[in-house]
Amino acid sequence: MERLLLCDHGFPEFFELYHDGKARRWTTADAPARLRMYTELLPLLREALPEMRDEHLERLRAWAGAGSQGRASHRVLSVDELRRLAGSPVATLGAHTLSHSSLSTLPASRQREEIIGSKLWLEGVLGQEVRVFSYPFGGRRDYTAETVAICRDAGFTRAASNFPGQWRSNADPFQLPRHLVRNWDLPTFKEQLSRLWIA
Ligand SMILES: [Zn+2]
Repeated sequence: MERLLLCDHGFPEFFELYHDGKARRWTTADAPARLRMYTELLPLLREALPEMRDEHLERLRAWAGAGSQGRASHRVLSVDELRRLAGSPVATLGAHTLSHSSLSTLPASRQREEIIGSKLWLEGVLGQEVRVFSYPFGGRRDYTAETVAICRDAGFTRAASNFPGQWRSNADPFQLPRHLVRNWDLPTFKEQLSRLWIA
């Protein structure tokens, strides 16, 4: 979305989309207008079914005259890199669904496909069992009690949420709190970390 809408290249005057039975139209001639569209389109895509999201993104790429290849600086890890990372003594790799959907928006059968599918895929790549999971987006509204039950039945032993808090011995192992870490430089990271310690 950032590459397609916020990076500088030539843009058509407007973008149109048919979503949820409604035609939507954004003017896109200048940067503030594109930023507005970006902030409105993000939640809409986040809540869309995966196939609908793919369709909208395809339309957006065609509109921007851009391909599906992301920037080299923003690419995902390769399979080789995943295997190397899994060999690190300080890293544990976990599953995270196939389509990065907010799981509470999906029926149970789709949630199961997403959760178990990502576990099997990663296990196939790593050649080892994957026991941990994290909910995409991870806020309390992004998963339900049913999601937690599916994770437990799938053989995970822990799952991470994404609300701040300290992990204490009485924490629910299927809703572990986490602190958000941005792409900070070292001084900022140190400062943020020291604040957590005090809290
Ligand atoms: Zn994620």
